[in-house]
Amino acid sequence: MTQASTKWHDRAGELSPEPRAFIDGAYTEAVSGKTFEKTTPRDGSLLANVAECDREDVDLAVRAARRAFEDGRWSGKSPAQRKAVLFRFSDLIEENLEELALLESLDVGKPVSDALSVDVPSCASYFRWYAEAIDKRYGEVAPTAPEFLATITREPMGVVGAVVPWNYPLILTAWKAAPALATGNSVVLKPAEQSPLSAILLARLASEAGLPDGVFNVLPGFGPGAGAALGRHPDVDKITFTGSSEVGKLFLKYAGESNMKHVSLECGGKSAHVVFPDAPDLDEVAETVAGGIFYNAGQTCHAGSRVIAHRSVRDELIEKIAAHAATYAPGDPLDPDTTLGTLVDRSQMERVLGYVDLARREGAEVTVGGGRKLPETGGFYVEPTVFSGVGEEMRVAREEIFGPVLSVLDFTDAGGEAEAVRLANATAYGLAGAVWTQDVGRAHRVSGAMRSGTVWVNCFDASDVTVPFGGFKESGTGRDKSLHAIGQYEQLKTTWIRIGDR
Ligand code: NAD
Repeated sequence: MTQASTKWHDRAGELSPEPRAFIDGAYTEAVSGKTFEKTTPRDGSLLANVAECDREDVDLAVRAARRAFEDGRWSGKSPAQRKAVLFRFSDLIEENLEELALLESLDVGKPVSDALSVDVPSCASYFRWYAEAIDKRYGEVAPTAPEFLATITREPMGVVGAVVPWNYPLILTAWKAAPALATGNSVVLKPAEQSPLSAILLARLASEAGLPDGVFNVLPGFGPGAGAALGRHPDVDKITFTGSSEVGKLFLKYAGESNMKHVSLECGGKSAHVVFPDAPDLDEVAETVAGGIFYNAGQTCHAGSRVIAHRSVRDELIEKIAAHAATYAPGDPLDPDTTLGTLVDRSQMERVLGYVDLARREGAEVTVGGGRKLPETGGFYVEPTVFSGVGEEMRVAREEIFGPVLSVLDFTDAGGEAEAVRLANATAYGLAGAVWTQDVGRAHRVSGAMRSGTVWVNCFDASDVTVPFGGFKESGTGRDKSLHAIGQYEQLKTTWIRIGDR
């Protein structure tokens, strides 16, 4: 064990995470007194017995959030005042970098080095970015007849329920909570049951930063319990959700069966790299493809989980991807040299290994990987895996596997560009995709024809808070990130004022 690795093991041994919910400015047990065991996928050991919130806790949190909203303790502050508090919140996130990173790594099995360099800093930067944006947002005056003044102003929605998954707990929480809080809403956050710990700590930091009681509440618990209760609550004005398409559809149903609350959804994906024979550099393509599917053990909504390669470059590309796959050896998330950690839990590992069996039964070839690794640790490690010979009719070509698993399909000159685009669009998802070609015209045509919210040309996973992120088709409704996301947490109000004679 290296010295750096020992440091994280020692810290993990000393850790005693806060396991309670945070409602109305204070940590509290669930009303039922129930808890659930939160273990780490590193080795299956217990991290904490976490409060299992349910409908009654949701009701308490929503009432607190509503009181806070109505009395204006946050919603009534000037944007500049809210900005100052959110700046402090960002600073505190950065000051607690190591503890947050450790919690995130232990909770979900991601490499601690990724949590330190990506998850925690990104989370802090999103709060700072929306804080900076919010006092530069103006209303409008409409070009009406002169006897009227008609203003169009933006108001916060009220109580926002945020339900997030476990793959990037801090980042996705910030995508929702940062614009929602900056615009003056009160937030009730339900983290995923697999990853509650960083969100629970975040609640204390928000309070220390000066967010008034009731404005930011965190309810750990399960989807069908706390998640559904939030989705169905008659006094929640807006649900912002990231997770599977299946559960996203449930939130639309909950809204229809309750108070017609606004719903925005970021759901699953099956992103494709379309690789033409004139791709700039196959080595670079291979390295990028490997990073796009093996980072975070493939548990990324926009993971590039399919390659659609022209047959003339397919075999060479697979060979090069296989070489890069070898650099992602599964290892202990607490070792700073690890690049591929565990899957989030046993059921996710079994799901991924189930797809490996399915691919074989469907007639695909498992060219690289395909197995569980390090079972003696008690952790849920799966090696980087590449399926070749994948046909478009196979389930592994269409379904989201959510693991370090790549499916390679091909196209020929007979079908050409149109065939490549057809294959890229042949899933229910439409989150992202990439085109690799040196032909500008082709890049433009193909990116235009791909039905997805983001298309990368000769790159993958270029990312910045300044651009919107979200999906076409069953990848969701609405957009996170960028100034466009702010509108999802606001209502537009039109006010007519007579200022002249009839
Ligand atoms: P999930 O849909 O199972 O869970 C997401 C959240 O919904 C969790 O908090 C969970 O507790 C809650 N939930 C589950 N069942 C519920 C129910 N019946 N009612 C109410 N709430 C419920 O998803 P997951 O497995 O945690 O996350 C993986 C999924 O998230 C993948 O499909 C992935 O693509 C997607 N994702 C999308 C994006 C994006 O930006 N588009 C980003 C990250 C992850």
